[in-house]
Amino acid sequence: MKIIFLGAPGAGKGTQAEIVSRRLGIPSISTGAIIREAIKSGTPMGIQAKEYSSKGQLVPDDVVIGIIKERLSAPDCKNGFILDGFPRTVPQAAALGEMGVELDAVVSIEVPDEVIIERMTGRRVCDKCGATYHLTSIPPKDGKNCDKCGTPLSVRADDQPDVVKQRLRVYHETTEPLKDFYASTGKLKLVEGQDKVEDTTALTLAALGV
Ligand code: AMP
Repeated sequence: MKIIFLGAPGAGKGTQAEIVSRRLGIPSISTGAIIREAIKSGTPMGIQAKEYSSKGQLVPDDVVIGIIKERLSAPDCKNGFILDGFPRTVPQAAALGEMGVELDAVVSIEVPDEVIIERMTGRRVCDKCGATYHLTSIPPKDGKNCDKCGTPLSVRADDQPDVVKQRLRVYHETTEPLKDFYASTGKLKLVEGQDKVEDTTALTLAALGV
């Protein structure tokens, strides 16, 4: 299957994308994760991307479209894939269509902004192994270090409260119109994000019919 997950930053689309990816045995591709990795390694693309993402802005379309073109040509994508965080603009969606990608479903996880602000400011990540936690919903065992590798957890630069509000503005203005774009293809499935991850998963799997 070829599936897109849409949703505001912090709506839980990455978590659901990972779960569905394991269940269907297809890769989940997060442009945000690829960009963060490039920023960490200090590649030319990472240096350029940091300018935007640290301010809660989108990285330019041509950069992100290039990332996706390269990633989708890898052999592990031949039986399907999940896109988590791409497309985020109408030109990105058009580029995906021009690549000949025939989508099976577009899942939009719907969560009110106030809930997202509470969730994102509590998010903690491990810079070493990439594990993610939340101070109230998925707390690390000792409250501050990664359960998997013991590294002290940090707050992503783009999870700082002002940046979160800016990212939500960008989502509503630039990414949310994609719902209309995909509704017109009949592929859009709206899923109400629940407090518990497993409850959202149940609704997501039902929407996908898997
Ligand atoms: P995410 O982890 O998906 O929320 O992405 C983190 C950051 O990476 C975003 O705030 C953007 O700056 C950048 N980013 C990720 N995906 C895209 C995309 N499809 N288009 C533009 N920027 C992106």
